[in-house]
Amino acid sequence: MSYQVLARKWRPRRFSELVGQEHVVRALSNALDGDRLHHAFLFTGTRGVGKTTIARIFAKSLNCERGQSSQPCGECRACLDIDAGRFVDLLEIDAASHTGVDDVREMIESAQYTPARGRQKVFLIDEVHMLSKNAFNALLKTLEEPPAHVKFLLATTDPQKLPVTVLSRCLKFNLKRLLPEQIAGQMRHILDAEQIGFDAEAIALLAKGADGSLRDGLSLLDQAIAYGGGAVRAADVRAMLGTIERAQVTRLLDAIVADDGAALFAEVAKLAEFAPDFGLVLDDLAALLHRVQLRQLVPDLPLDGADAGDIARFAQSLGADAVQLYYQLCISGRRDLALAPTPRAGFEMALLRLLAFAPAGEAGGGAAPAP
Ligand SMILES: [Zn+2]
Repeated sequence: MSYQVLARKWRPRRFSELVGQEHVVRALSNALDGDRLHHAFLFTGTRGVGKTTIARIFAKSLNCERGQSSQPCGECRACLDIDAGRFVDLLEIDAASHTGVDDVREMIESAQYTPARGRQKVFLIDEVHMLSKNAFNALLKTLEEPPAHVKFLLATTDPQKLPVTVLSRCLKFNLKRLLPEQIAGQMRHILDAEQIGFDAEAIALLAKGADGSLRDGLSLLDQAIAYGGGAVRAADVRAMLGTIERAQVTRLLDAIVADDGAALFAEVAKLAEFAPDFGLVLDDLAALLHRVQLRQLVPDLPLDGADAGDIARFAQSLGADAVQLYYQLCISGRRDLALAPTPRAGFEMALLRLLAFAPAGEAGGGAAPAP
């Protein structure tokens, strides 16, 4: 059997399998079971958080041959065809790739006709703000006098670009970016079921790299499995993502605090062997400084994590204003990276700036001022 990408193989087939978006699921389920369905829904939110998946489950709920319910059977012809993406009454349109094409207008105008097979036609229009003018007018006309057999699921990453006339006719939901823990939980669930070995740190790195999108996370997981030859290990994931060990970031900051340029560049040379993404290293350094500053100024806030000892040490040895300055320099260094002659040169200049701007008398000594 050929390899099937995880995001597709593990696409949820029922509302209860969906990760996150509980508020949307509850509203849709109640409407389906109580038969009080709005005819147009607008989902806002970033990519890869479940729009297509929700649309498919919703279409099954409406068209399941055993009757409308929030728990479609998943076994009848309609359910199977929708899962396989070949149900004629579920029309998926990506407006970002179809702008100006007359087909879209015709598709929307076809909403007037009764469904070919199911009870309800479902239109999923992604990036709806990018529809052509003609297509938009057709949509508006249909939304003004919606036929009883049509449901619209509109999605956009940019709701400000939608006219009020459309907004006012839709029930609006904000799809949330997923938390790293939610993404990590789903990754562990999948790896257990697939009987693929992994370590916790690898999953934490991948979940962070997913940046709120489960789809992106699972695609990273696919890569990590291929990269690791069937297992998911932290060292492989780090190499793959271009991230580095936390201890290396700590050593960079130690050298800066000690005002020791030689030690700093010895660390840089070691780092460079891994050919990391230098932007991510600056991110990690900024994240470390953020935690140090929290420790200094909001000492009652519990900071968990393996690096609590390092955080406490830096909180002692650096002044609060120095931490602010270092943080700013990391962020601006990150921003300027694209303009640097090479990423490594940009990275080194950012570190040199931290070294150069070390506040007088700060190095290795000064205690944190009282908050
Ligand atoms: Zn069914």
